[in-house]
Amino acid sequence: MVEACCLLTAFVFIFSGFTKAVDPQGGAIKIGEYLNTFGLSISDDGVLLQLLSVLESTFEFVLGVHLLLGLRRKIASVLSFVMMLFMTVLTLYIYVTGKISDCGCFGEALHLSNRDTFLKNILLLAFTTVTLFFPDRIVSVLNKGPHRGVQLYSLLFVLLVSLWSYHYLPLVDYRPYYIGQDIPGAMSIPAGAQAPQYKTTFILEKNGERKEFTLDNYPDSTWKFIDSRTEEVSPGYKPEIYDFAVFSDKDEEVTHDILHQKNYFFWLIFPRVETTDNGEIDAIGDIYDYCRRYNYGICGLTSSSHQAAEAWEHSAGIRFPFYYADETMLKTMIRSNPGVMLVKNGKILNKWGKNALPDEDSLTSALGKLSLTYGNVSHGMTSTIKWLLLFFIPLIFRIFAGRISVSLRNRRKKRANNIIGKQDLIKNNNTMRKKIVAGNWKMNMNLQDGVALAKEINEVCKADKPACGVIICTPFIHLASVAAILDQNVVALGAENCADKEKGAYTGEVSAEMVKSTGAQYVILGHSERRQYYNETPEILKNKVALALKNNLKVIFCCGETLEEREAGKQNEVVKAELEGSVFNLSAEEWKNIVLAYEPIWAIGTGKTATADQAEEMLAYIRSIVADKYGKQAAEDTTILYGGSCKPSNAPELFSKPDIDGGLIGGASLKAADFKGIIDAWKK
Ligand code: PEP
Repeated sequence: MVEACCLLTAFVFIFSGFTKAVDPQGGAIKIGEYLNTFGLSISDDGVLLQLLSVLESTFEFVLGVHLLLGLRRKIASVLSFVMMLFMTVLTLYIYVTGKISDCGCFGEALHLSNRDTFLKNILLLAFTTVTLFFPDRIVSVLNKGPHRGVQLYSLLFVLLVSLWSYHYLPLVDYRPYYIGQDIPGAMSIPAGAQAPQYKTTFILEKNGERKEFTLDNYPDSTWKFIDSRTEEVSPGYKPEIYDFAVFSDKDEEVTHDILHQKNYFFWLIFPRVETTDNGEIDAIGDIYDYCRRYNYGICGLTSSSHQAAEAWEHSAGIRFPFYYADETMLKTMIRSNPGVMLVKNGKILNKWGKNALPDEDSLTSALGKLSLTYGNVSHGMTSTIKWLLLFFIPLIFRIFAGRISVSLRNRRKKRANNIIGKQDLIKNNNTMRKKIVAGNWKMNMNLQDGVALAKEINEVCKADKPACGVIICTPFIHLASVAAILDQNVVALGAENCADKEKGAYTGEVSAEMVKSTGAQYVILGHSERRQYYNETPEILKNKVALALKNNLKVIFCCGETLEEREAGKQNEVVKAELEGSVFNLSAEEWKNIVLAYEPIWAIGTGKTATADQAEEMLAYIRSIVADKYGKQAAEDTTILYGGSCKPSNAPELFSKPDIDGGLIGGASLKAADFKGIIDAWKK
């Protein structure tokens, strides 16, 4: 259920992030519209909105990839919830007020009504609420290694798509003016269908006074044209292109004329001629000269005033007929100012943005002989699927390659582990680290019961040889008696603590030397119960570790975070500080006698086990910081155990993880059958 919610949200985010990324200028226009409803008027041609548009699509896409692959699950689920909460409130607002007719949540790829968008967002909000509460149940598809690479790959992919689309034209054209489109065909209404009615409003100015006019009451030429807009006044059958309308400088409609030119026709589109990029004047001049040479049609299309168009012609020193149209329509036709369309008989043959205009180097002979008359048709859902597949295929390969290499590594290790044997648990041989299951009896068992339990464990392990090293760590009073009955080639012995002082007047304490003299080989240090109830600080533990090693005891050093620390996302920080405070001071030689045990405090004795993925994530992190400190090989050779409600039922899954080398077992080590059940997990 959690995974289903997460995957659905992920796919929606990836799709909507991509559809927006391919059209950063469209995104800027939409953000501008939203801001306008709150009284903020910012030009969508400006850097700010373009930047916001790229950031928004990048964020959404990368977040979707995180959810899909289970990366940074906690933060990804919080961010998706916050985002959906914001979007739901926003779409409720536009649904209620009707201030925006199209939410733009899938860019131009898919248009939903405000009601449908709101319902979709409610659903996504519910999904993200589920993942917010159970982020740990999101399946993590990747092993630890490639996380960074995958994050970077998705970030780079979506950014490149945005930047390419911004610099040239949208990578995928979702708008109806794509290359190959037959505009008159896309405007036609089937016989008998009722056409929607539109009203075009013109904004004109005279003597500082601005007024709105329609075609019916259009005033005389003493009024200066400022702007125009076309609105639907009564609904009807809406063809794919329904708003294409072009006017001459006498305000006569010339739509039919410009759509039915039999010869090649270059449309130079300047949504607003005042803000057009004049760096392209030379290239426009080349197109103009080319049209004259070969007798091709050329015209300008703009939503600006006649005066502004004339001013542009004057400054550019080029003259061709200018026609006038709605700004939104022009921006829909081409996301560039200026942009060029090559049209013949109303069919779009090619499109160029301002950064890739054809110039004298490419306009070398008649169009029939050039490849300019068929641009790359890349539009609609098929292209979207193609690009998304292009994104996913390397990712899928990476995931499978990672999985195969981990499973091969595990198989090799398992085989080697069986061959090497289990006697010398801490003998470093540079080939592989030891698998260990260690029991921690804590303050349980009187002497007689403890000896009986040790005997039973010793016998079952001798009868059925473990595929891992086995250690039992007992209270001090058991050590000597248990040492006497254990075959330490099969079951090694350890203490649960030792003093931080060498010897002397420390009533009640037991020194490392004393522990060693009982026959024990190990000592557990840094257990959270000792840190918590006996105030063992990193400094005290550092002394204990030093004394244990000095007395040839091997140390099982514990670290782990509290529930609050995990909830605050501080687990890595906490564990790192614990290791730095007590064991990262050791020499490389001393380090060989350290076994680490990661024990999340919230999982100790609570019955609440960390999931295998959580444990693996932490152990891989711990191994990475050991590598930073002692080098890769030392990290590979370090045995790291997981501890916290480990049982025969969950041990096989935990031990199947590449970085988990066994367990430190509390409660379940007090019954020989349970303890043996966990030991046997290494045979599965
Ligand atoms: C422990 O205290 O080391 C431990 C892991 O305890 P439990 O297995 O009972 O959670």
